[in-house]
Amino acid sequence: MLRLLELTYENLLAAVSERYGKGPFLAKVLYREFYKNLKPDAWRTEAIRNSQGLRDRLRKDWCFGPGRVRDEIHEEGLVKFVTELVDGHRVESVILPLRTHRTVCISSQAGCGMGCRFCETGKLGLARSLSVEEVVGQVYQAMQKFGRPIRNVVFMGMGEPFDNLQNVIQAVRVLSDQRGLDIAQRRITLSTAGRIDGIEKLAALNMPNLNLTVSVNAPNDELRRRLMPLHDRGSLALLQKTLMAYPLKKGKVLNVAYVLISHVNDKNEHARQLAEWLKPLRARVNLIPYNSIKDSFFKPPGQGDINLFRQKLIELGVNVQNRVPRGRELMAACGQLGAHVRYGG
Ligand code: SF4
Repeated sequence: MLRLLELTYENLLAAVSERYGKGPFLAKVLYREFYKNLKPDAWRTEAIRNSQGLRDRLRKDWCFGPGRVRDEIHEEGLVKFVTELVDGHRVESVILPLRTHRTVCISSQAGCGMGCRFCETGKLGLARSLSVEEVVGQVYQAMQKFGRPIRNVVFMGMGEPFDNLQNVIQAVRVLSDQRGLDIAQRRITLSTAGRIDGIEKLAALNMPNLNLTVSVNAPNDELRRRLMPLHDRGSLALLQKTLMAYPLKKGKVLNVAYVLISHVNDKNEHARQLAEWLKPLRARVNLIPYNSIKDSFFKPPGQGDINLFRQKLIELGVNVQNRVPRGRELMAACGQLGAHVRYGG
């Protein structure tokens, strides 16, 4: 089978040589038609209209199965779309418009096995990991449906990307192929709940331009264990040690995500502990006000509490970014993907 959503240009070149004894001309034509012109049935290209035998073979081998976009919800330019995969599982993706371009937030798994207590996806449990085609397909279909200028891709949708690392890395290679979608690796972010083995594997892959976000959410082991059951696999000290060894390119910072939950992790003492933990790291904290999810006893923090926590961190010398919680009403903000899958709509 030829699944172009799983292939870099070099992979395709090798495949057409092996299968059809053809060279760069065919690979270039197919890749350009598929990725630059966004034609999923690129085998129909006029460029090979005189070679009926080759077209027949291509048609037989061709595969395009990223799933079908079932639903889309629009609000103030932000779009959440739900893709139904071939086996009926559904995943959610979000397109966030910025002034000059768009960012797309994609899923790496249907559901998630990490079980973070504050997260809608965590309540679904893990159905399965996505194939490369299903991961790249979210960006491809976003471009087809909502326009081309997607510049940033963040793996912050459903799932723990490091639980599906092999497919996620091949997806990154396909997304960043300059002959195809051409999304630079420096504009792609992998986000993990802190899988230490995954961080080590990523470090060994030597992809220095990729961005890494680590979801920390608690400044001590006891609280983190309560919020993130995965924490049992490694302490904050071990996570810190792993991140200290992570090969950060000059000028880059680690992104540390901290979901701020009212009366849970938003006290002065928590800010102090977090600042202490961050000291040996070149990191920037993204403060994300907790977003309400159904049947949860956690509460979002008030704006005053967010400001106080942020101010405290700044006083303690922490580099802080305050994320504007767009998409809250759409149930498309951080930690909320999965609502549409869980409750329908
Ligand atoms: S926060 Fe991320 S890792 Fe945790 S359950 Fe949700 S999707 Fe999974």
